Amino acid sequence: MNDKILVTGGSGYIGSHTTLALLQAGYDVVVLDNLSNSSAESLERLECICGIMPEFVKGDVRDRDLLDKIFTDHNIRAVLHFAGLKAVGESTQQPLDYYSNNVLGTVTLCQAMANANVLNLVFSSSATVYGDTTQMPLREDIPTSTPTNPYGRSKLMVEEILQDLAKSDPRWSIALLRYFNPVGAHQSGLIGEDPNGPPNNLLPYISQVAIGQLKQLSVFGSDYPTQDGTGVRDYIHVQDLAEGHLSALKAISLKPGINIWNLGTGIGYSVLEMIRAFELASGRTISYCVVDRRAGDIAECWASASKAENDLGWTAKRGLTEMVSDAWRWQEKNPNGYRR
Ligand code: NAD
Ligand code: UDP
Repeated sequence: MNDKILVTGGSGYIGSHTTLALLQAGYDVVVLDNLSNSSAESLERLECICGIMPEFVKGDVRDRDLLDKIFTDHNIRAVLHFAGLKAVGESTQQPLDYYSNNVLGTVTLCQAMANANVLNLVFSSSATVYGDTTQMPLREDIPTSTPTNPYGRSKLMVEEILQDLAKSDPRWSIALLRYFNPVGAHQSGLIGEDPNGPPNNLLPYISQVAIGQLKQLSVFGSDYPTQDGTGVRDYIHVQDLAEGHLSALKAISLKPGINIWNLGTGIGYSVLEMIRAFELASGRTISYCVVDRRAGDIAECWASASKAENDLGWTAKRGLTEMVSDAWRWQEKNPNGYRR
């Protein structure tokens, strides 16, 4: 019998790509998602790509009775926990929603896992837990510092809760995966990022300008101490990220305790470099204007990717051209995302 994995938030952007990678690697998958920021259409598209649909349970990760039922009905070996809210700006307007979904959601999940004796967990953390340090590249042993917004603080809180949990009971095996900037889409163009309303993140914004849904990109600041004055980030192809989860899942089954891994490429690109790469891939001109810096943004941020490489044997394989070409293919084939 195949190992069965529970994927919370599995119909979302990163969750759907990781569910696909799990199915293709022979795992059985149960997806739990309340569809607050995604569409179940993404799971149907997985069937078009790999011929298998994961089992889907529509529900909330804070619903303890539902979690207990899932663990009773299925022989779950491990949980990949993506479910949560992720918009930095919105988190400052609705902090309680962020603490409820992200922190309470994780605590409820862990309680249900402990009750079911399922003690392998992979958690979606973020480079935001490094705060505004300027020590690049960011290594996992740099002390975390308090992020500037409720979203980031919820991620750091969960990291700390999970560290306490692992200390309290050595049978837990937990991976804290600190993502850098996930971009791109599966090369089929069938699944991808489908933001609700105007995107907050750079690449979906550029894509929507390219397709003509948005007029102009605002470049947030050109006076940073970087090569061209615009912000630099470590963009990582979502399929590389998905593969990183599979590697982490395998590693924690042999490595109890807390394991922290950056999932990034180790390479930073500026906003202007991203625009140029997208223009080349799409053959479209991206109209942009430079505006003031966005509050809370840092000048540059990229990962040290060597711990994941040493411990997991995983590195990101896809470069910038593949990231922007795949993002564009998804956008062109699905101008309205999953809404037909
Ligand atoms: P996403 O919004 O596409 O996916 C999250 C999924 O969780 C959605 O399908 C949503 O419907 C679901 N969800 C939200 N709250 C839920 C709840 N209470 N119960 C059940 N389902 C719930 O986001 P994503 O980009 O795929 O991000 C996945 C995870 O990775 C999130 O935890 C996010 O914070 C983290 N992360 C994302 C990024 C990024 O840039 N995309 C960067 C770092 C970390
Ligand atoms: N950015 C921008 N215009 C936008 C969105 C983002 O200039 O409409 C810049 C932002 O200032 C940062 C980079 O693009 O330098 C990546 O931003 P994003 O929001 O995608 O990721 P994060 O800030 O979380 O790293």
